[in-house]
Amino acid sequence: MHEMSIVAGVLDSVIPVARESGATQVTRIVLRIGDLTDIVDEALTFAFDALTEGTLCEGAQLEVQPVHPRSMCLECGNEFDHDRFHRACTACGSYETKPICGRELDIVSIEVDLPDEESEGTEHGD
Ligand SMILES: [Zn+2]
Repeated sequence: MHEMSIVAGVLDSVIPVARESGATQVTRIVLRIGDLTDIVDEALTFAFDALTEGTLCEGAQLEVQPVHPRSMCLECGNEFDHDRFHRACTACGSYETKPICGRELDIVSIEVDLPDEESEGTEHGD
């Protein structure tokens, strides 16, 4: 399953960062995923639940921000939004188009629980 390797890759990035910051638990992971990646939400959630078991990310909330595909026409330079199945230029009808976005797979942010907050936002001068 495609989603398993995607989630594994996300966790490989998130867990070391969380561990380094001393987090006891990752509470939330926000991903930006393009519509052209063919990722199925249910499969992603299933993979996430399976792969986070016993890790810092167990029980974390997974939020996905979808990115709608957008392309540029190589014939007329028009930029247009489209769905996964319609990529022809909306201005001239050409199929000579170049994707600008829609294939993203980015980690936008993570939220973690820290054991205590004594150093939060304070600076000690001398
Ligand atoms: Zn065009």
